[in-house]
Formats: sequence, structure tokens, C-alpha cells
Amino acid sequence: MSEIIFLGTAGGRMVVASQIRKSGGMWLELNGKNILLDPGPGCLLRCAELGLRPSRLDCIVLSHRHIDHSNDVNIMAEAMSGGGFKPKGILIAPMDCLEGDDPVVLKYVRTYIKNNVFVLKDGFKHGLDGVTIECALRLMHSNVECYGIKFHFEGRTLGYVADTKYFEGIGEAMKGCEGLILNMVRVTHDERFQHLIPQDVESILKVARPRLAILSHFGMQVVKAGPKDMASRVEKLTGVRTIAAEDGMRLKLDRREEKATTLGEFIGK
Ligand SMILES: [Zn+2]
Repeated sequence: MSEIIFLGTAGGRMVVASQIRKSGGMWLELNGKNILLDPGPGCLLRCAELGLRPSRLDCIVLSHRHIDHSNDVNIMAEAMSGGGFKPKGILIAPMDCLEGDDPVVLKYVRTYIKNNVFVLKDGFKHGLDGVTIECALRLMHSNVECYGIKFHFEGRTLGYVADTKYFEGIGEAMKGCEGLILNMVRVTHDERFQHLIPQDVESILKVARPRLAILSHFGMQVVKAGPKDMASRVEKLTGVRTIAAEDGMRLKLDRREEKATTLGEFIGK
């Protein structure tokens, strides 16, 4: 069985700080492998609330070092490895999460996973026995290293466009995805922050043309405007089926799912 579990859908400092929406990233179960993507604040708590056992994790991936994507990386790595007593799992993260003056991944925690740490960068590809994790492209997000990622499994591809300002190459790099998760943090551009707005998402979808687009990581502007309404507007303008993620939403990706939910149907055909 394969599915995406949205532990949280908060993006932007105010929504994360107020927890109007939960934060914590996404738990991907793909072809039997459990992958934690961008474990922001509250990830461990959300896993407990949703009955997800961190010891089942095989891999943790960070798209970039910002706190709303990485806050719980250390505790989740510790939990993945049974408190360090049962070393297992790997961590994939950009170099600036690991080295330099201010690494977000603690060095002593890395020993709990036997230092199985891989640097996410252009050209990166790593096989996890049934899932291949591929760096799709480097994004443009303030002064940190941030990447778009593709997960290939069971002959399908799930894509993730993390925080970024819009530029032309994103749609092209994200072609071939059946599902595409996009962090749409804002409604209007603000020079101080490099984030996608609905028009940017539309430009990406017109080129990438996934079977389903899933919007998440909502800042205050999007929360106020209504993520669902924004998703339907994007769908109308692009012809790409688009939904807004909800906290705790489970999106089944199983082809064999007979009673496919409306959310899961896209992979069921
Ligand atoms: Zn960010």
C-alpha cells in the first residue's frame, strides 16, 4: 500500500507559531517504505496523535534547513533508530543542513543512524529497495539550499515542489509526476520572502501537468483566503485536478484500492 499522510499543512511563520494549522511535514508510505519529509515543529507529536510509529521509518528527507521543515529532524532520527539502540534508517539533506556554522542536524544524533547521511544536491539519486529518491532541481529560496524532489515507486512518480520563488524551469523538471505536492505559502508576492502564489502554481502545472496537484504549506494569506477555494480556482484555470491538503489527510495511492476515495482515484486508473 502507498499513501501520503499530511501530518501538518502549516507554512509561514505566523501559521506555524499559532498552530492555526498543524505543522510537522508529511509521512510517505511508498511501496512499503516509510519516508518522513520535512519534519517541522510538532512532527513527533503528530505521529503519536495519528498512530504512526517512528520506529517504522526508513528514511528522513529535508528539502531545506528552515525551522518549519527541520525542527523535529533530530528527535525523529533518534526515534527512527529506537533511541539509538537499534540503528537503522538514512537521512537525506542539503549540505547546509549538515555542515557550516549552523547545521540543523546534530552530530551525535547522526551516530544513531550509523552516519548514514546523504547530501541532497543536483544529480542526487538514491535507491531504497523499491523507491528511488531523486533530486529534481535546485529551487530558489532565500539564502538556503532548497530542492525539488521526485519519489519513483511502482512505476509511478510523486513530486514535491518545496519552498521557492517561481522560475521557468520548475514545470519542466516536474514533468512525469502522477501526484505533485506544491508548497503554496502566499497569495501575493512579497519581496522579503521567496514563495509560490496561485499564479506561479498555475504556470508550473500548465507545463508539468500531473494527474493530481496537492497544495499544502499554507501561510496566513492562504488560510484566510480559503485553501479549498484557491485549489478549485487553480483547477479551473489549468485543467489539472487540484486539491488542498488538510491536517491529518491520508491520500491513498494504491492502484488496487477497490473503493478508491475521490482523493485516491487519480492513481487508480
Ligand atoms: Zn523555507
